[in-house]
Amino acid sequence: MVDAAVRPKTTRPHADNADANLQFDVARVTDLLMGTWADTRREARELIKDSAFWRDDELGKDEHRERVLSQLHLLVENKAVHRAFPKSLGGEENNGGNIAGFEELVVADPSLQIKSGVQWGLFGSAILQLGTTEHHEKWLPGVMDLSIPGAFAMTEIGHGSDVAAVGTTATYDASTQEFVINTPFRGATKEYLGNAALHGVAATVFAQLITNGVNHGVHCFYVPLRGEDGVDLPGIGREDDGLKGGLNGIDNGRLSFDHIRIPRTNLLNKYGDVAADGTYSSAIDSPGRRFFTMLGTLVQGRVSLDGAASWASALGLKIAITYATQRRQFDGADGQEVVLMDYGKHQRRLLPRLATTYAQIFAHDEFLQKFDGVFSGRTDTPDDREDLETLAAALKPLSTWHALDTLQEAREACGGAGFMFENRLVGLRADLDIYVTFEGDNNVLLQLVGKRLLTDYAQQFTGKDAAALAKFAVGMTAGKLFHGAGLRQFGQSVVDLGQVSRSVENGLREEQQHLLLAERVQQMVADIAGRLRPAGKDKVLGAKLFNENQAELIEAARAHAELLQWEAFTDAVHRVEEADTKKVLTWLRDLFGLQLIEKHLAWHLINGRLSTQRAAAVSRYIDRLCARLRPYALDLVDAFGYEPEHVRAPIASGAERERQDEAREYYAALAASGEAPVLEKTLKKNAKR
Ligand SMILES: Cc1cc2nc3c(=O)[nH]c(=O)nc-3n(C[C@H](O)[C@H](O)[C@H](O)COP(=O)(O)OP(=O)(O)OC[C@H]3O[C@@H](n4cnc5c(N)ncnc54)[C@H](O)[C@@H]3O)c2cc1C
Repeated sequence: MVDAAVRPKTTRPHADNADANLQFDVARVTDLLMGTWADTRREARELIKDSAFWRDDELGKDEHRERVLSQLHLLVENKAVHRAFPKSLGGEENNGGNIAGFEELVVADPSLQIKSGVQWGLFGSAILQLGTTEHHEKWLPGVMDLSIPGAFAMTEIGHGSDVAAVGTTATYDASTQEFVINTPFRGATKEYLGNAALHGVAATVFAQLITNGVNHGVHCFYVPLRGEDGVDLPGIGREDDGLKGGLNGIDNGRLSFDHIRIPRTNLLNKYGDVAADGTYSSAIDSPGRRFFTMLGTLVQGRVSLDGAASWASALGLKIAITYATQRRQFDGADGQEVVLMDYGKHQRRLLPRLATTYAQIFAHDEFLQKFDGVFSGRTDTPDDREDLETLAAALKPLSTWHALDTLQEAREACGGAGFMFENRLVGLRADLDIYVTFEGDNNVLLQLVGKRLLTDYAQQFTGKDAAALAKFAVGMTAGKLFHGAGLRQFGQSVVDLGQVSRSVENGLREEQQHLLLAERVQQMVADIAGRLRPAGKDKVLGAKLFNENQAELIEAARAHAELLQWEAFTDAVHRVEEADTKKVLTWLRDLFGLQLIEKHLAWHLINGRLSTQRAAAVSRYIDRLCARLRPYALDLVDAFGYEPEHVRAPIASGAERERQDEAREYYAALAASGEAPVLEKTLKKNAKR
């Protein structure tokens, strides 16, 4: 274990110019980043300062699994897992706080975060959200105190993204009032389930509900796996997934069911029920809508992955940027070795990623507020639920991909030291790898967002007369008719692009950034909608055209998510009153916006959104912003609020600075002593004179 008590000194190299001497209020920015549930985050961070919660990198798979299980018990002992559960059962019904607290566990050990998520966020949530009072009273106390460790059994070998097509069946037998749970073929085996290989004694199993010869679609059932004696019940098949690419503290595995009989009342029946005589009933008539309503109640997994991935990126940058402000390589013009962070390329590698991380953390807090509003019932309309699901499908992909990209860049930015396990980056990178796949594969999720954008776009035209549609068809009014992407209104910001200021920087400030990002979404969606239009009601042609445009639709969804992040960052900057702090955060927000524009520069040029002169200026402006932000790089990562017990990377502990200082002192003393050997090249230079 590292010496966590070595606290890094935070010193800022103050240059002469005023921009380098602003009073950046680290504590204020920490509050801003911690967001709405700052108290819960601080509480969770305090708890995981205890080394009992830390990942022990030396452990093998089996020991790691047992350690993580024992950590879950520690969480229970510390009352850290009850926040989302009903007050009547000892919970707090605090949905936002619950997620915020769980997210923080990622810096202790991602396996701990995810195994907790399986137990309380998936298995427990399925009972809570899909079950009714009887189920809550019967099973939730055991879920909460971990006397019932459980698996969430949705995915099968044969179907992961397309969950509606799972093969497991739950066939009702009216003669015994039981459901028969069965795995009819190998591909219907439940796969990758946390808690399934070893620890789970029960599972919430998703299966096709069949009664009186009718398949009513996928429903969720509570299925005991083990008896009181700890032995698997007859008919339960259990396999271990073994070693994985990361998260090896979790016992993922497979489950199969050979005609397992469970009582009728084990159907989690909030959205669909079967009476004793086998009659099916549901308040939601459409099977499709019913299924998506059920899935929607389980959105919290995506919410927490978005937050955890964003904070993991923050930790990676805290490590890499701290190291980069201490590590020196190559002499500079003054004969002194240069600190890595002073290199333009190093700034370019780390600071835009820092800006994105800020944007994601701010966007996540808005997302969490939305989640809390829906799940507390304060703002729980079908539209709110749909917005929440779209937001989850938009933000989770970007933050989880960003985490992998950032951790890899941070690893490289730390050179060989970054590759040492003790410095955290490779372990985090490996553990977070699968975040892009579970809780919904990123591309599949973005496709959902794209479809929502198309639906919203189409709604702009409902009730419009033939003349309006004809105008749209020739592309005259598309931009003006499309006023929203479902979640934000940005149509009013459409201004004449011809009126941009002469100053290049002025022409790339807040309003123009917003315009460029928003118009890109609008234009892409309008273009795709136009290309899909010829299909009309022809399903075959529709599928063909959709497939031809799928990649671009996913790109449009990504652009939409980037816009949401930019808006959240901008809202956060507007909340800051202190002028100096606001200035630095505005540069950082500009850096976020401009890197997005730079990334899509070809699109902006092809579509005539930027002149070639302005396009050429974007990259130079980014370089200038990086240089301006350089003096605040350390402050900006310190604002994440991580303490040495969270960072636990020797390269970010101050040890590198001490080594560098020692070496410099050694050479200075040697030079002063007059005993330093003369350099050969100096001799040769002198001889030439
Ligand atoms: C470590 C781990 C833990 C997990 N824990 C659980 C758990 O506890 N419970 C549980 O139920 N599940 C769990 N899962 C399953 C996880 O949710 C699924 O792996 C995920 O949903 C993706 O499904 P899949 O693996 O079958 O991939 P697939 O659905 O086969 O997707 C493979 C690829 O195809 C692409 N693709 C799929 N459909 C389309 C399309 N329409 N258009 C374009 N591209 C497409 C995807 O983008 C993806 O890249 C876990 C998985 C892992 C690896």
